[in-house]
Amino acid sequence: MNKHPKKEKTFVAVKPDGIQRSLIGEMISRLEKVGLKLVAMKMLVADEDHIEKFYTLNPEWRRVTGEKTIAGYKSKGLKPPIEDPFEVTAIILENLKKYMASGPVIIMVWEGAHAVAIVRKLVGATEPLVSDVGSIRGDFVLDSYSMSDTDKRSVRNLIHASGSTEEAEKEIKHWFKPEEIINYRLVSEEILYDVNLDGILE
Ligand code: GDP
Ligand code: MG
Repeated sequence: MNKHPKKEKTFVAVKPDGIQRSLIGEMISRLEKVGLKLVAMKMLVADEDHIEKFYTLNPEWRRVTGEKTIAGYKSKGLKPPIEDPFEVTAIILENLKKYMASGPVIIMVWEGAHAVAIVRKLVGATEPLVSDVGSIRGDFVLDSYSMSDTDKRSVRNLIHASGSTEEAEKEIKHWFKPEEIINYRLVSEEILYDVNLDGILE
């Protein structure tokens, strides 16, 4: 039998700039308020090797990210600096390693119905310049690919969230031991998921 949708989990990381900008509470608050449940959390300074393995958990990531980035330049009428997607990704990955290892990060697992899609919606698009108003990246940061490329650094977008349930499963395993993920009940789950709402009236 398939797992109930309320059991879906996603991996979230407050990136070093999110911590420096004093946005930890704001970000956690948004995920809490939508109804998701925090089931694991730690603060750490990641090493570059662990970060590289994290971004390349999906064997297709190098190709896909390179192709997406090249297409992004072309859609803006710009000539990509390099035509080979793997070379483009190599630069992105080097910058990402410096960015993600520059300070502490907070890593978390959030659980709830459609956790992956809901968190992506709250987080917003990758490039803050075009992230929707109301999303975390749209509301709290003003970076762009053109500025980060000019400065030869990663785009600073405050937070990471898994892009799919398959990605979430791999990412959670990469950062957490199974015993670090806590199974527990929140009282608010009754109002979100109970079928008959029969425990309210006295
Ligand atoms: P996310 O899931 O929204 O964080 O985005 P992706 O998984 O697609 O990309 C991972 C990271 O790669 C992003 O946070 C960026 O740092 C970088 N990246 C992705 N696409 C581009 C791009 O078009 N240009 C540049 N410079 N970096 C990119
Ligand atoms: Mg991603």
